[in-house]
Amino acid sequence: MTRLRLQALTFDLDDTLWDNREVMTRTEQGHYAWLDDALAEWLAARGEQHLGRFAEWVPITAYQRRRQELAERHPLRRGDFTWIREHALASLLREFGLPHEAAWHWATRAMERFHELRVRVSPYPEVEPLLSELGTHYRLGSITNGNLAFDRLPLRRHFAVAIAAGEMHAPKPDPRPFLMALAKLGASPARAMHIGDSWKEDVLPAIRLGMQAAWIAGDTPHGAPLPEGVHRLEHIRELPALLERLGQE
Ligand SMILES: [Mg+2]
Repeated sequence: MTRLRLQALTFDLDDTLWDNREVMTRTEQGHYAWLDDALAEWLAARGEQHLGRFAEWVPITAYQRRRQELAERHPLRRGDFTWIREHALASLLREFGLPHEAAWHWATRAMERFHELRVRVSPYPEVEPLLSELGTHYRLGSITNGNLAFDRLPLRRHFAVAIAAGEMHAPKPDPRPFLMALAKLGASPARAMHIGDSWKEDVLPAIRLGMQAAWIAGDTPHGAPLPEGVHRLEHIRELPALLERLGQE
């Protein structure tokens, strides 16, 4: 099969350009603990300690359950994690005993804290030079289901297009965020490659559209032969060598 020269690359973010696990754990626990402390202080200043500690009344597991319930009740919003979190917090704060306005105030403040923590990702050291170099040969885009405030990261400048698929209510593997990225990058699927760690959310939707895919498979055990157009990499640092190989074929 003749391969067309690639013009555009689209990248998943979490667990492709950085390891996301620790950040998520820190963020999940950090914004909840912050809310608990800040709220206790506020209640004490108002002489309302009788309500007790929020995190004792509403353990973090209850917050996680409420998010799940909201996602099930609002299937269109299931990928819009910021909306789900803020609504879960506001409803739990109401049940804790706060008036409507105070509940929303604290839910919003907690989500501000969430985003401050969520964006503290550490891209792999190879990523900055790699994007810098690739940007001189290809048009670059990002497509994420995550809700990190990507605009706040220095890395954002490498991407002509950054798609937050969850917030457009079409999380991957929905093809729409891919199509939108390609349209904005002015590239046809046959001249584009998507790079991501998820077989289901990155690789499959990309190849169904006729894009090539670089699967950042880490140490996933090798299984059946890969479909046409899929290239397995252990780590993003191997991408330039892959592109070079493809260019020479
Ligand atoms: Mg990912």
